[in-house]
Amino acid sequence: MSRRSLDDFATSKLNALAQRKLARTLSVTECRVGQGLINDGDGLISFACNDYLGLSQDSRVIAASVEATQRYGVGAGASRLISGNHPLYRRLEAQLTELKGSEDAIVFGSGYLTNIGVIPVLAGRSDLILIDELCHSCLLSGAHLAGSKLMPFRHNDLAELAALLEAQREQHRHCLVLTDGVFSMEGDLAPLAELSKLCERYGAWLMSDDAHGLGVVGGGRGSAFAGNKPATVPLQMGTLSKAVGGYGGYLCASRAVVALMRTRARSFMFSTGLPPGVVAAASAALEIITTEPALVATPLNRARLFTRKLERPEAQSAIVPLLVGTPERALTLSAQLRAAGFFVPAIRPPTVPPGTSRLRFAFSASHSTHAVAQLCNTLTRLLAAS
Ligand SMILES: *Cc1c(COP(=O)(O)O)cnc(C)c1O
Repeated sequence: MSRRSLDDFATSKLNALAQRKLARTLSVTECRVGQGLINDGDGLISFACNDYLGLSQDSRVIAASVEATQRYGVGAGASRLISGNHPLYRRLEAQLTELKGSEDAIVFGSGYLTNIGVIPVLAGRSDLILIDELCHSCLLSGAHLAGSKLMPFRHNDLAELAALLEAQREQHRHCLVLTDGVFSMEGDLAPLAELSKLCERYGAWLMSDDAHGLGVVGGGRGSAFAGNKPATVPLQMGTLSKAVGGYGGYLCASRAVVALMRTRARSFMFSTGLPPGVVAAASAALEIITTEPALVATPLNRARLFTRKLERPEAQSAIVPLLVGTPERALTLSAQLRAAGFFVPAIRPPTVPPGTSRLRFAFSASHSTHAVAQLCNTLTRLLAAS
């Protein structure tokens, strides 16, 4: 009986989502070493991968991972605080600290785990969290766990943020301001220098999520370094799963904040450490990011080739969205591109707000300029015909 009601619940919920074109399915995607960016079984050229530098397939990164796995085994065996803190972590955290110019760094299991771990340590019930409305879902999840008063501000709207700080800051003990550095569905940058000034004026703490910035913008150092001079962002988190090519998350911050995280962040304390091979891979990838500026510059160059050819505003990151409105239109265009040999995902609610369904193009150092030009030709033809 209860089994039946459970399945009935799941089925009816799924049917309702399918009717609104919001159901999701998994397709098998295979990455092949040495064949450029990901091609799935149909040999499509993928513009859907966050592996901006192709490092998930890099022979040096793979070799570092294999060597660490052979030496230390496949798993960490426990939380880092118990016995999972294998020696490779020290180097990785030192590299992140150096790259971001912070005092210290702490590596978590993933970017998602970083955000849901860090935010509740810094903010609680008497506090205020102001969040850009287009922030990634896991910043919002972290903010919900914190139980603070949560107020979104319009995307990149400094005036609205200032008004909220003016009206709300004094009634709260602490205030945390959350933003993506590079917005994952828009591809634009947060005005970190201005946000930092505002936060300083109101005694608020700025936290940026640089998942799509590290390895791509600011000479590879990320969005805080994308302007004329580095922005002061006391809490810089990011992921090791995108340009770094592997898996894991990190927070770069002061020694005091990082020490507090080691002691209080629940997703750090109560989750197993990363496999040694994953940590070694991230170290090898960061070494490449810091020593190969031409590689690091390539994804942005490819994205700018695309926006130039389509006569759209210049790309600010490796991500370029093309807003098409309804989920149906996004799915149709995505299917048409697929038929022409390109994998470009349709992004629909709840990932993006209703009415802003889109195609999302992610460019990588693995894309040839030829592939980008072909994509532009096909897309121009499809858009003219629809
Ligand atoms: C992908 C992403 C994350 C999550 O990182 P994982 O390491 O994949 O868990 C967090 N924030 C943003 C903005 C992202 O794009």
